[in-house]
Amino acid sequence: MGNIAILCSGGDVSGMNPAIKYFVEYSIAKGLTPYLVYDGFEGLIDNKIVSASYQDVSGIINRGGTKIGSARSKRFMEASYRKIAKENLDKHRIDKLVVLGGDGSFRGMEKFYEEQGIAFTGIPSTIDNDIAGTDYCLGVDTALNIIREALDAIRDTASSFKRAFVVETMGRDCGYLALVSAVTSGAELCLIPEVSYDLRKYEARFRQELLEGRRYFLAVISEGVRQSSQEIAAWFEEKIGIESRITILGHIQRGGNPTSRDRLMAYRFIAFGIDGLLRGEKDKICCYNSGKLNYKSIADVANKKYEIEPALMELAGPCLGN
Ligand code: ATP
Repeated sequence: MGNIAILCSGGDVSGMNPAIKYFVEYSIAKGLTPYLVYDGFEGLIDNKIVSASYQDVSGIINRGGTKIGSARSKRFMEASYRKIAKENLDKHRIDKLVVLGGDGSFRGMEKFYEEQGIAFTGIPSTIDNDIAGTDYCLGVDTALNIIREALDAIRDTASSFKRAFVVETMGRDCGYLALVSAVTSGAELCLIPEVSYDLRKYEARFRQELLEGRRYFLAVISEGVRQSSQEIAAWFEEKIGIESRITILGHIQRGGNPTSRDRLMAYRFIAFGIDGLLRGEKDKICCYNSGKLNYKSIADVANKKYEIEPALMELAGPCLGN
């Protein structure tokens, strides 16, 4: 039936390892010979491409990150290196690729397909959940649960002392992680890049709540907002009159054992992606909308900005800065 390979590109996420495991199993079940490409597009160029058996992917379903490594590749931006990548794939007679990555990786693959004719399917994988065209990206659920655990722990100490805790989440230009985390952790303040805010609007209410006995504030700030976490913390001290502390969650948000949802989504994305390739899809992204998987073209995924659904914004209610 042919040879098929998988690679990870861009930021790693929890859920890649279950995807890699199931890629091997499902490919074999479908009569394909599975290959692993180590270190993303860099590995394609350097021929770090090896055939895989069940043993290669045993014991990884519960592990974060990716066993086969991920990378960003400046060289892959150049046609001459993409030609080398194709020659390496030819050496292994691989004509199908599954790519776990973000929209940048899909754009790179689209170019590769147009020039070199290697069919691919993209599986949206980023904790930021910022890929247009899909409600869900692999790794988001694990990241949300890591953030929730951190916020629960911070709440314990915040309530013991009288303090405001400013917690900064990842997400680049997308406030999804911060928004969902704020809602599910009962934060008093949530600032995200999508919503303009004026901190003065909170001042009277927050000061009044302190007078009425409130002991702490929890503020969840997306890294992409116009003010730094330090500035928000200083605002709590100066304008609200409460001592503040800052926690920048950083890369712990990327790690951790994949949740059940991310393991299941990894399996569903992989089966759907491979089925599509076998049916003759050449350059489609596996998307998840309203509980259903579907294929979308790169134009519908990579050239648009992801928008958080209004109903989610509404749930955040008064903590969202407008
Ligand atoms: P993340 O959101 O986690 O960073 P991403 O897939 O969007 O993931 P990028 O750094 O944008 O990450 O892209 C990953 C790789 O894809 C780049 O290092 C490059 O090798 C390749 N790539 C991106 N855009 C292009 C392009 N226009 N042409 C060729 N290759 C590209």
